[in-house]
Amino acid sequence: MAATVAAAEATAAAAAEAKGRQHTGKAVGLAAHDASGHLAPLTITRRSTGDDDVAIKILYCGMCHSDLHSIMNEWNNAMYPMVPGHEIAGVVTELGKNVTRFKPGDRVGVGCMVISCQSCDSCDEGFENTCRGGIIFTYNSVDRDGTVTYGGYSTAVTVHERFVVRFPDAMPLDRGAPLLCAGVTVYSPMKYHGLLDANADAPAGRKKQKHVGVLGLGGLGHVAVKFAKAFGMKVTVISTSPAKKQEALDRLGADGFVVSKDAEEMKAAASSMDAIINTVSANVPLAPFMGLLKPNGKMIMVGLPTKALEIPPFDLIMGNKTLTGSCIGGMRDTQEMLDVAARHGVMADIELVAADYVNTAMERLAKADVRYRFVIDIGNTLKNSE
Ligand code: NAP
Ligand code: ZN
Repeated sequence: MAATVAAAEATAAAAAEAKGRQHTGKAVGLAAHDASGHLAPLTITRRSTGDDDVAIKILYCGMCHSDLHSIMNEWNNAMYPMVPGHEIAGVVTELGKNVTRFKPGDRVGVGCMVISCQSCDSCDEGFENTCRGGIIFTYNSVDRDGTVTYGGYSTAVTVHERFVVRFPDAMPLDRGAPLLCAGVTVYSPMKYHGLLDANADAPAGRKKQKHVGVLGLGGLGHVAVKFAKAFGMKVTVISTSPAKKQEALDRLGADGFVVSKDAEEMKAAASSMDAIINTVSANVPLAPFMGLLKPNGKMIMVGLPTKALEIPPFDLIMGNKTLTGSCIGGMRDTQEMLDVAARHGVMADIELVAADYVNTAMERLAKADVRYRFVIDIGNTLKNSE
């Protein structure tokens, strides 16, 4: 009880502190003004650096399909003007007086969240991504001071230090930026669904390699392939795009490639996978893919299409299958993922684009025409004088 009261008081104090903030910093963002999703430069304000804050000059921002869903209001929650972007990489420019983990000039990143209640059991355990008080997302969320958050398609951002991660020296900012969302979103389910340490409890000489399917080879999917290979899994890509086959096998290191529209290939892969990480951004029936799972296999949803999932119960129940979901990852896991990625050389394959290419990039993202993540070169192409 005392702990609950203390937590409530801490939350109230934080909210009061937030309300007193000044928003005097000027930045330029790329903003959507309506569900056409068209982005154009907009001058925005950023809050002054609070005691626990890190002010960041943004150099790169990845373009996640969630940005596209959001600006087009596909999830029916858009607040315009909206500045998307939650794969942020940059350098520290200023620190609040309580911040000791960073210094000016440090290379840092910000992902999908900018604050949580910091007092519930989820937050205490490092899972801010399942905060019971509700996550405040990097953009399109109402912050504690009542302002709407603006994301990383902008020149600067100010974020509570808890939600800032450090870039390891070996991780470039541009190719590492997409890991802040895409990376942790695929790393986290590998960790928590027993795929990372798949072989840990097998007797010596009887270790059994896990076979993971990656459904949809886009931004999330290609990072999933890289992590899964780095961790020694067998990986099969399941894709609608035969044109991606050769590079999936040769460059990304996948062991197999199944074209989902090819009935013969689907049949040959039946009942072979321990888990499928489903990254598809569109509404597609799940049933054919449940058939690719072994008995007790798991279908792990990370893709966020707009319509409700439809699955015939028999496809779930026969073979004791599990259908589960996974939302980004906590801050401890985000830092861990970035460190692990640096050690294994896992980084995104990117197409670096100028700020004035962003609308064309969105059109191409909608058509799955990107190999495999657009990253906006904010530092060189978006200026505060726009
Ligand atoms: P992306 O780069 O656009 O990749 C999505 C892939 O899905 C495409 O490359 C394509 O792969 C496949 N696809 C697209 N349209 C399809 C269709 N009509 N039928 C079948 N397959 C189709 O997107 P992303 O940035 O990786 O994001 C993927 C999804 O994850 C989005 O819905 C996003 O909002 C969501 N997301 C969720 C979380 C989370 O925390 N759970 C975090 C980030 C993103 P092929 O060409 O190989 O078929
Ligand atoms: Zn994302």
